[in-house]
Amino acid sequence: IVDSEYEANSIIEEVKHHFTKDYDKESLLEVTTVEDIEIKQVKATNAEIQEKDKLIDYIIKGTNEEKKYIVEKGDSFWSIAEYFDMDLDELILANSEADPETIQIGDELNLIVPKPFINVQVKRKVVQEEKMPYETEYAYVSYMYNDEEVVSKAGKYGVSEIEAIITEQNGIQVAKEVLSETVITPPVTQLVTTGTQDPPPKQGTGYFINPLPGSMITSRFGSRSGGFHLGQDMAKAAGSSIKAADGGTVLFAGWSGSYGYMVDIDHGGGFTTRYAHCSDIYVSAGEKVYQGKIIAAVGSTGVSSGPHLHFEVRKYGSVVNPAAYIGIQYR
Ligand SMILES: [Zn+2]
Repeated sequence: IVDSEYEANSIIEEVKHHFTKDYDKESLLEVTTVEDIEIKQVKATNAEIQEKDKLIDYIIKGTNEEKKYIVEKGDSFWSIAEYFDMDLDELILANSEADPETIQIGDELNLIVPKPFINVQVKRKVVQEEKMPYETEYAYVSYMYNDEEVVSKAGKYGVSEIEAIITEQNGIQVAKEVLSETVITPPVTQLVTTGTQDPPPKQGTGYFINPLPGSMITSRFGSRSGGFHLGQDMAKAAGSSIKAADGGTVLFAGWSGSYGYMVDIDHGGGFTTRYAHCSDIYVSAGEKVYQGKIIAAVGSTGVSSGPHLHFEVRKYGSVVNPAAYIGIQYR
């Protein structure tokens, strides 16, 4: 109850304003209330006349109830929603001014989802940039397994400018009609190479294949300039695919000092293999791999003078000459 028709009308306008105040006036096409609003004359005492600002707030929130939460250390929107048994969407709705990504300790969040008594519908015209997804094309080759993928050309998102009419109810978008779309930057199609062969079982076969076919041995196993070379160096272009010499379980995959990026695989029977100086690693510790699986890419990380694979074979932890093991039944 307010004291004049003028006041009642101005309250309705204020409620509408609440949902449009952030927008450019020229962009607004239509601002209406979903409900038919009737202003009635009633007999009332002075005590029954309510304060305008409180009424506006009451109409927008749909309630006088307040329930707040102060953000504590370690909180996220997700954990707070979970704790108060709310949907994440509800919490976001209740805090439309807050950015879920950047809440700070001490921030005050609303736990009551506003359900306005008057639903304001806003239609506005917008011009905005949108991300255009890229397509992925596959090339199938017989020398790879069908669970392996190598991105031969990375895809890129495009950008377009769209003109649209957005319909919002109480500040929440409910419809979007795209009027026109202009491509600013077209997306770039991603090219992926994959195989047609079914992969073998993920276990050791007892036989070692060459982990880097087509490579050149540049340094052999054994004594080398006053030291001892624990493996053999196999040179091939950076980025070339390194294959597991046999199936097994990945023991280690990561950075290892002078070895650079390195992979160790346990093949059973006391045998392990090591692949070092990689530029990229495609497996992780604990993963089971099959013989021939692409596990890494040739690089020159760690102490290395150029792109090559440093390949080691170990039997119960002691290095053996890889040349004597590649291409043979080792157990
Ligand atoms: Zn080496």
